[in-house]
Amino acid sequence: MTHTLSATAELDRTNFYIDGRWATPKGAESYQVNEAATEEPLGTAALGTVEDVDTAVRSARAALDDGPWSTTSAAERAATMRRFGDALAKRIDSTSRLVSRENGMPITMSTAFNGTAPVGLMHMYADIIENYPLEEIRQSLSGATIVSRKPVGVVGAITPWNYPQAIAVFKIAPALAAGCTVVLKPSPETALDAYVFAEAAEEAGLPAGVLNIVPAGRDASWSLVQHELVDKIAFTGSTAVGRLIGAECGRLVRPCTLELGGKSASIVLDDADLTTFVTGLAGASFMNNSQTCTTQSRILAPRSRYEEVVDAVRDFARGLTVGNPLDPAVTCGPMATRAQKERVLGYIETAKGTDARLVTGGGTPRGLDRGWFVEPTVFADVNNRDRLAQEEVFGPVIAVIPYDGDDDAVRIANDSQYGLAGSVWTSDEDRGIAVARRIRTGTIGVNYYDIDLGSPFGGMKDSGIGRELGPEAISHYLEYQSIYASAHQLPGAQ
Ligand code: NAD
Repeated sequence: MTHTLSATAELDRTNFYIDGRWATPKGAESYQVNEAATEEPLGTAALGTVEDVDTAVRSARAALDDGPWSTTSAAERAATMRRFGDALAKRIDSTSRLVSRENGMPITMSTAFNGTAPVGLMHMYADIIENYPLEEIRQSLSGATIVSRKPVGVVGAITPWNYPQAIAVFKIAPALAAGCTVVLKPSPETALDAYVFAEAAEEAGLPAGVLNIVPAGRDASWSLVQHELVDKIAFTGSTAVGRLIGAECGRLVRPCTLELGGKSASIVLDDADLTTFVTGLAGASFMNNSQTCTTQSRILAPRSRYEEVVDAVRDFARGLTVGNPLDPAVTCGPMATRAQKERVLGYIETAKGTDARLVTGGGTPRGLDRGWFVEPTVFADVNNRDRLAQEEVFGPVIAVIPYDGDDDAVRIANDSQYGLAGSVWTSDEDRGIAVARRIRTGTIGVNYYDIDLGSPFGGMKDSGIGRELGPEAISHYLEYQSIYASAHQLPGAQ
């Protein structure tokens, strides 16, 4: 039986995708996905039990150990991956719309991140693996050594709800390119869209068991982390859960990559062009209704131009069009879930009880009683030690913080447990780059912030371990093996 995602299709997902087939759940648990903008039921996703996860892992293990995927040539894997990308491309519109309905992401952005980017990434990693140095022969003291890079093995990929398609492909594409097999464990909140990967895998002719999909809640997800037949965990999500997973992987001596939370700073230098800065705010601070790990929710403004910056951020926030994310004119959709909306409103209420000054927003938008909407909100005069400046809100709530001189700006930006992203705004790019080099974050923009899929992305400090994207990500899915051999047995050895 195959499922098709179309505007009229029934969106309930009652099976898992395991071993190239639709598998009946062993339990009865399910998750009701409601449309973020309307609160109306969108579809129900079955959630896996520990037993379902075990079946999926065993399928991935068998595909790795007995199947051809891990030993096929890079060129053959690349060809399958390109077909996979092409199959996703056929579904860009339906997938992008579905994710917007699930998590509130404005449709134009959803088309870029849940539609186009995954297609591009499948093709990008196909190209990379075809040209990747998977083996070389080195002369050693007493012979030669074959230095070989092998797939790390069975990958457990655990993903969040905010960019569900892109973040899954950040893992699936380099893993498949390396010859790994995968169990994808999507977030229940966006489980419905994950099934497009099953359709694409079937259409591309991916061998059975190479990609398995089981949405699951916490306990079954934890069983994936711990499963004895899993070789690596690739996790994106909160720092709290990442810390648990990292500790468990340490105990199990199991490699893991952790892409976690952030509380990034946007530093407006005293020579900044505020028109450029305001134009960049959409990507830096308000992307996906600020339900983005790289959100620059702390804006550091020089005391000499403080009110000017506060006014610019306020006007930008007021100018956002809040509404149903399927409307292309909407620039700020709802929060993904009721719980997320309440969490964001909770941070707003806490900030109201501090010395911070509410400049705009501060509640729910008038006239939008249905749907999990929050007003784009700006607080000025925030102390960098306040909760609003230290904790990840994951919603459109921005703190403007004054500073005195570049050194002070760098100090405040770095005064955070996180180190994921940031930006510097200046009319002197060299000065901006010099300041950017002093900020302890995995990525940082000068006069714009936009993730580059071709370069490594990830966090320092509590924002994570390891990097995704770029050719660098492949190395997290490969293990070295050095085979010491005598020279005369090695054709081509010197
Ligand atoms: P979350 O940590 O609650 O959940 C992430 C995933 O982990 C989900 O699939 C969830 O079901 C699963 N999970 C939850 N508890 C688990 C457990 N005990 N064991 C195994 N799996 C478990 O995060 P979320 O609310 O889905 O996503 C938002 C968070 O993700 C934010 O903190 C955000 O910053 C972060 N994020 C980081 C990046 C990045 O690249 N650094 C990108 C996107 C989101």
